[in-house]
This record gives sequence, C-alpha cells and structure tokens, in this order.
Amino acid sequence: MSEGDRLTELAKRRGFFLQSSGSYGGVAGFYTYGPQGATLKENIESAWRDRYVTREGHMEIDGPTVMPEAVFEASGHLDGFDDMIIECPECGESHRADHLVEDAPGSTVEDAEALPISEVEALFSEYDIDCPTCGTALAGEPIDDFNLMFGTNIGPGSSSPGYLRPETAQGIFVEFPQLAEYARNQLPFGVTQIGRAYRNEISPRKALVRVREFTQAELEHFIDPEEDEPPLHRVEDVVLPLYSVEQQQADDGEMQELTVREAVDEGVVADPWIAYYLGVSKGWYDRIGVDMDRFRYRQHLPGELAHYASDCWDAETEIGGDWIEVTGFAYRGDYDLAKHEKHSGEDYSVFKQYNDPITVERPTVDPDMSALGPEFGGAAGAIADELEALAERDPDAFDGETVDVTVDGESYEVAVEQTGFSVEEVTEAGEHVTPHTVEPSFGVDRLIYTVLAHAYEEDEVDGEERTYLSLPPETAPTTVGVFPLMDKDGLADRAQELARDLRAAGLEVTYDDSGAIGRRYRRQDEVGTPFCVTVDYDTLEDGTVTVRERDSTEQTRIALEAVGEQLLALRDGEQRFESL
Ligand code: ATP
Repeated sequence: MSEGDRLTELAKRRGFFLQSSGSYGGVAGFYTYGPQGATLKENIESAWRDRYVTREGHMEIDGPTVMPEAVFEASGHLDGFDDMIIECPECGESHRADHLVEDAPGSTVEDAEALPISEVEALFSEYDIDCPTCGTALAGEPIDDFNLMFGTNIGPGSSSPGYLRPETAQGIFVEFPQLAEYARNQLPFGVTQIGRAYRNEISPRKALVRVREFTQAELEHFIDPEEDEPPLHRVEDVVLPLYSVEQQQADDGEMQELTVREAVDEGVVADPWIAYYLGVSKGWYDRIGVDMDRFRYRQHLPGELAHYASDCWDAETEIGGDWIEVTGFAYRGDYDLAKHEKHSGEDYSVFKQYNDPITVERPTVDPDMSALGPEFGGAAGAIADELEALAERDPDAFDGETVDVTVDGESYEVAVEQTGFSVEEVTEAGEHVTPHTVEPSFGVDRLIYTVLAHAYEEDEVDGEERTYLSLPPETAPTTVGVFPLMDKDGLADRAQELARDLRAAGLEVTYDDSGAIGRRYRRQDEVGTPFCVTVDYDTLEDGTVTVRERDSTEQTRIALEAVGEQLLALRDGEQRFESL
C-alpha cells in the first residue's frame, strides 16, 4: 500500500476525512472532515491565527464565498484562470494536459503549464501519451483552456452572474478602501482571511491535495514600496532550506541552507518581505507538526511566475516521494489594488502625509478658447486637452513663441500666449500611494494532509505491531484519553469525574471504557492522542493516576489534583513528559 493509500484508509476508519456523499457514489474533489479531522483542522487554523493574526498584529475579516462577476473581471480570473484540458475520444474522461506531459515516461518537462498550447499538443505526440483511464492514444487530440471557476446566478434569472471565489484574497482586495480606513490609513498593515475557496479542478487527486472545495488561510500585507521594510532582525538567524531557480536548473541541484539574513544579503531571496515571511513560517510549520526533514522552499521558475508577481517561493512538503505545494509566498506589487481601482472607479490608494508640507512648482495652462476656437475649429477642444497634458509632461515645450501639439496624428502650431501657460507654486501635504502587496497564501487541507502523513509511524509494542500518529500535543484533535482500568469498584465513576474536570479545564478529552486497556491505548495512538490517563486501584488508595505518553509509551504516576494543570502545560509545550 502506498503512503497515501495507507493514510486515506486510516483517515476514513478513524474519522479524519472521507470522500463526501459516499452513499450517492461520492463526488471527486469533495471531502468531509470527520470528528477527528474537524478538530485537527480547527487546531491548525487556530495556530495560524495565533501566529499570523495575533502575534503579527494583523486584522482578520470573514467575507462571502460568492462574489459578483465584476470582481473577477477586474482580478483577471474570468479571462485567465485556466488550466489545459484534453479529453479522451474513447472513454470521454478529461485530464490536465500539462500534468500528463510532466508525468510521461522520459519527460524532461517540469512546468508544462507555462508552455503555449501548441507546444503541449506537440509533446503529446513526442512522448506518445495515452489516456491514463483507458489507454487510448491522445496524440493529435485538441487541448483547450478550461476556466476553473464555479459559476452561479445571484438571485432569480441570469442577469446577475456570480462565482464561488477561487481564492480568499479577492475578498480582502475588494474591501481595501474601507480596510485602509480601519487601519487609519497607516501603512504597512495586514489583513487575513481563513475560509473556503473553490476551483473546478479537471482531475482532483491525492485525497486532500487537489480538491474542488478547500480552505485557504491568506494574509495580504499592504506596504509602502518606497519606505516600508520588514522587521528582519526578528528572524534573521532562522535557517531556510532553499531550492532556488539556480539550484533547480543545475544538474545536481541541491537545497541550500542559508539564514534569512544571508538569503537577503546574497540576493537568493530577492525581496526582504518574502524572506521575512519564509523565516516566520518555518517555525510555524515545525510547530504544527510538519517534518522539517521533508520540507523546502522552492523558488518559482521564470515561466511559472504569475504575470503580476516579481518573486515567488512555495513551501513544499514531501509525501510518498512527491513534493507538494502547501503555501505560496508572492510579491504581488500593486497589481490587485490598481486593477480594482480601475474597474470599480473607487480610490484604492492611501494618502501618505509628509512630515513637513512641501512646495512644488506646478505647470498649468488656461487656453484662450476665444482664440483657439476660430483658429482650429472642431479640433480646438482636443488641442486644449493635449496642451494640459503636455504642460505636465514637458513644460519646456512652452519655452518658445509657439508650441507644437499633435492630436489624432495631426500637428498643430499654437502661439504660447494663447495657451495661458504658467508655473504656479503649490503646497502639498502628502501624496497618494497605491500600496504593494506581499502575500503568504496557505492551503489548510494540504497542511492537514502533510501533518497526518508526516506523523504516521509504525513500531512494535509488547511484540505487537502498532500504528500511531506522532502529532504535536497542540495539534492533536484529542489531548487526553481517560480510562478506568475496570468498569467496577467505583473506578468508572472516578474516571468520569476526572474526564469532566479535565474538559472544564479546557482540554480535549475522550473517555473510553470498552475493551482491554491495551486496545484502548492502540485506539488513541491511531488518532494521535498524546496522553492517556488511567484510573486504577491505586487511585482509590493514594489519589494518583497513571499518565502514559504516546510515542515512548512511557508511564508515570501523578496526583489527581495536579493532572489537569500538568496536561495543560504538556499541551502548550511548557513542560516535557520526561520532566514530570
Ligand atoms: P497548484 O499549482 O497546486 O494548483 P496554485 O499555485 O494554483 O496550486 P495558489 O493559487 O497559489 O495555488 O493557492 C494557494 C494555496 O492554496 C496553495 O499553496 C495550496 O496549498 C492551496 N490550493 C490551491 N489549489 C488547491 C486545491 N485544488 N486543493 C487544495 N488546496 C489547494
């Protein structure tokens, strides 16, 4: 069984995730999180909130998942959010053409998405690519662009088209004018959103890795590109596992280990803001349970870069020999805000006040229309407009007796005295700046999948094979399993009372009194519960309980009154089990 299959089997059996609507045959790309999975997801989201909202001091919003068409016309998704689709003429199955080219035996293509369709079509013949479902040859079949957005109609009729958002980011960008007000128009400021996003993926695959409905946790950090610098000193010593373009293009390219400071100084990570977030995020991945020996930051190859991004790195995790993108870190420039400003007609800039007002010279014109009208007839209005633009663009053009202007390809000579040209001195208190955006965009489902895959362990305990998830206590869906050794002699009552107390103290608790104690441990091991507490006969005698740690299976005895406090400290990483 592959690593992925093993995980999917455990996930379904133990309530992490399962394909949804299974009674109706299931729909590819949609998953339901079971009782363990839903809590695991919540724990990862709350760790994200803690790191990127609370500790970074950013805002959080929660917008709708359906947005009107105009938003996606502006963002470019309506026209350009496409994947390449090829349909099998025999079985009718659709596939992602770029993925088939990359996966073909002997293929050296790493990023087929960046190639023109005609080249990808040619590669189908070159590599003799067959339909993965039925084996029919696909060479010569047409490849089309397929837009990934799910469309809908808002209200009855079709006059108001809308789309399920393909990323949470647009919900932040569209509200920028109001969000800037909340931030008192002070750059830099960051806005986050955790929520569902939808993409009608052509071929969903690898369980949670490529799904059609997923959760993103995105941060849009709005900065003044001229002035704002990231607080690099906070993360400058963090060592980054970097897989740069240069390393990817070298034959024996390997990862480079550089500190954040070195990566910036040596220009490996071009933008210091991106470097800052790579540094912040590394510790966070480690905290939620990503195995840092199976982790890297990979720079986008030139053809892979989105047209608006100047530098982009992905956080990738290794599962079953494949590298999976879990987060994209992009410097998006002013692309999004400028687009929304243009399409909506609203002001998407921030007014930046100078420390001291400045005096500037402003060339202006006041054309004498009573002279221009008779002289230039119907062209006079356009000539006046062009004079105004010219004064701003090239005031020296007004130095002589006449000035030449070109309107609709025709040249006109205008006497300078008829233009009313003058240079005024004006005082300016500040300027309008369109902020640039730095975006870390996390895929929560891919992180859940990674954390589960990296936590999956098998060993032998008392001569028996065991499977366990070595999840960090903070991430694990259940923190404590509480068991009575036997369901008699008052042990169950004491154990139930303890379970209630531990829940009241804020711990996630499972109570289990069925089957042999070893079986109960195994069940908790399989869902990654880090600690189990057993109430036994000694408890009735001396008021202590057995606490057992999952990975080592070590046990120790603790006084009942202290157990809640100790377990909270263990969950929050303030104490280690060995020191109990
Ligand atoms: P991919 O190239 O794998 O399709 P992408 O580059 O299009 O991903 P982004 O648009 O950068 O992805 O989205 C940000 C994050 O959202 C990704 O890093 C990933 O974790 C997550 N994500 C994107 N598409 C999916 C999907 N279909 N299923 C699950 N997670 C996804």
